Amino acid sequence: MNKTHWDESGLFQAILDKCPVGIAVINYEGIYLTVNPAYCDIYGYTQNEMLNHSFTMIFPSADKLPVLERHQRFLEESTRLGGEWSVMHRDGSQMTVFSESVTFYPAHGLPARLVYVQNITERKKAQEQMKIAAAVFDASQEAIVVTNSENNIVTVNPAFTVLTGWSLEEVKGLNPREFKSGRHPTFFYTEMWQTLNETGQWIGDVWDRHKDGTEFLKELRISVIKDPDSNVINYVGMFSDITLRKKQEELIWQQANYDAVTGLPNRHLFKTKLEQAALHASRTRHIMALMLIDLDQFKSVNDSMGHRAGDELLGCVALRLLECAHNADCVARLGGDEFAIIIPDIDDPAECTDIARDILRTLDSPFTVNGEAIFVSASIGISLYPGDTENLEELFKNADQAMYAVKNAGRKNFRFYSRALHDAIHTRLRMIRNLRKALAENQFVVYYQPIISVKTGHITRMEALVRWFHPVQGLISPDAFIPLAEDTGLIVPIGNWIAKEAITQLAYWRQKYDPELKMTINLSPVQLRSQEFEDIPWIRDLQSHELDGEAVTIEITEGLLLNSEKRVNYNLKMIHQIGIQIAIDDFGTGYSSLAYLRKFNIDFLKIDRSFVEDLKGVGFELCTAIIAMAHSLGLGVIAEGVETEEQENLLIKLECDYMQGYLYSKPLPADEIEKLLVLPYRR
Ligand code: C2E
Ligand code: CA
Ligand code: CA
Repeated sequence: MNKTHWDESGLFQAILDKCPVGIAVINYEGIYLTVNPAYCDIYGYTQNEMLNHSFTMIFPSADKLPVLERHQRFLEESTRLGGEWSVMHRDGSQMTVFSESVTFYPAHGLPARLVYVQNITERKKAQEQMKIAAAVFDASQEAIVVTNSENNIVTVNPAFTVLTGWSLEEVKGLNPREFKSGRHPTFFYTEMWQTLNETGQWIGDVWDRHKDGTEFLKELRISVIKDPDSNVINYVGMFSDITLRKKQEELIWQQANYDAVTGLPNRHLFKTKLEQAALHASRTRHIMALMLIDLDQFKSVNDSMGHRAGDELLGCVALRLLECAHNADCVARLGGDEFAIIIPDIDDPAECTDIARDILRTLDSPFTVNGEAIFVSASIGISLYPGDTENLEELFKNADQAMYAVKNAGRKNFRFYSRALHDAIHTRLRMIRNLRKALAENQFVVYYQPIISVKTGHITRMEALVRWFHPVQGLISPDAFIPLAEDTGLIVPIGNWIAKEAITQLAYWRQKYDPELKMTINLSPVQLRSQEFEDIPWIRDLQSHELDGEAVTIEITEGLLLNSEKRVNYNLKMIHQIGIQIAIDDFGTGYSSLAYLRKFNIDFLKIDRSFVEDLKGVGFELCTAIIAMAHSLGLGVIAEGVETEEQENLLIKLECDYMQGYLYSKPLPADEIEKLLVLPYRR
């Protein structure tokens, strides 16, 4: 058929059929008279399904009656009607259509309505989404900044203004680099752009500058928006201020890894560092050393001066350790008064020796806390990796054992771990077990050693010296078990027992041989620290034997006087007050400070055996000086360990007051000593 020769109605039909807009004619009763394919398409029906049916079919049931009424009212009252309608697709889904209606007058009968309809559901949805997006943009707590392809700011949201201080007007057209803090190196930004261009996204933390000049840290996420041809249209940056959070994180990290008292890494961080150091040592085939440092007198400082002073002391110690160990990987505080050092890349263990000596030396000078001079020393244990072990836990244990060995050998020294040490530790543990039973099983015996007065030539004093007879191991020297008894606190009951024995013995001897005889009792620092004067049982024993305080002299070591501990001071004062005399044992081997001798009303100095032994060498000078000084302070002097007449003669020449030693008698059990008392020794 020739297209140019269509008749009129054929033409209309063709227009209706091809028209992309939905067209329908609805009569007054609401019945579809005409629907074109586009119209049917919109709603999902066929023409047959719609023609001669009520147009209310496209409305939900509740709306059917009102829309029919509105339809009729429209036909009666106006000529045009347009707007958006919420209608229903045949499949039940909701749609939005835009329709335009005009009144249409057929040749006969009531007016009808001609409707043009467009499906705007998708557009409508997009609009809704835009609205939501805009609301989010405005309401977001996160700052949002949108830039164009040149990265110049197009828009920012209100949160941006709140976080940065800049308003949209002020920043429009600016490049965000204007906000740079200068904290990041150039490559930081180069890498950011590289990632952004490659992946379309970048996430990271950036320090920027606030309008008022302060710097703040933001957690930033940048996304690239591209058109279908992959050309950049926009960059969208979203960020929040995490300065505070970062600070808190850092604080938490600090607290988790550092010791608040000294500022040194704590045990936790130290472990990590040790693992790293071990890895490094294995990789480079070097040796690493673990050094454990334990302060010797810290507890007494803490107890007597308070925790605050203790903390201050720890801080000062930490500083000195850092100075000594500047080559170390890590100087840490493991807790209490225990420090640790990792020394990496060792070629020769002598390097550790140097550091250990350095530490001991630097601790030699007193610390000043609260205006008081405090003396501390350290015991240092060292274990080598991978020399001693390849297991870090064992490395710790080894260094610990070495450190304890130093403590037991008199403290203030250092020691490397060794197999022999390992065995010694086991012996020590066995001994502690035995020691716990010794008192109950009557294994202790007190021996006595006479002290001779140079002036009279008589035995005027006795020193009580304890002996331990173990049923299997036999005689155990006090040098071997007293330190153990001190460490375990057993020295308190053992010491009290010794004193009770010695006092009972003295009372007997006084009555039988010499009413002037005096007894000298060794007191461990631990005894004076851990009991109060009023609770010391042997003080009461004195009274029950009707003995004056003067009958007894206690021997203490200088170390006890160095840190002025409240309880020790009090105990010494009270002891002195009831007439008990005080002697400093092993004088000359420690700090030998005159100030302490005066402060504590000391009565005697006992010159250490080592000086008497060396009377022909430097010992002579020392003995001369000690005796002269003691006399100038009004103190008596007792020489210990006198073995030869030559020594005796020299000491008499130096005007020493008392002599004690094998030359006169070894320490002996009471019944043997009695033989000496029957025939008083005469020089
Ligand atoms: P110390 O108080 O310095 O006692 C003197 C030590 O020298 C005693 O050793 C004694 O036997 C020894 N000695 C005495 N004269 C001579 C001599 O001429 N030559 C030689 N080579 N040695 C001589 P001992 O009895 O083995 O006691 C060792 C240390 O054990 C004592 O040294 C003292 O610190 C401690 N100790 C002994 N008994 C007690 C005690 O009952 N309580 C306390 N807390 N410690 C005690
Ligand atoms: Ca002594
Ligand atoms: Ca001594």
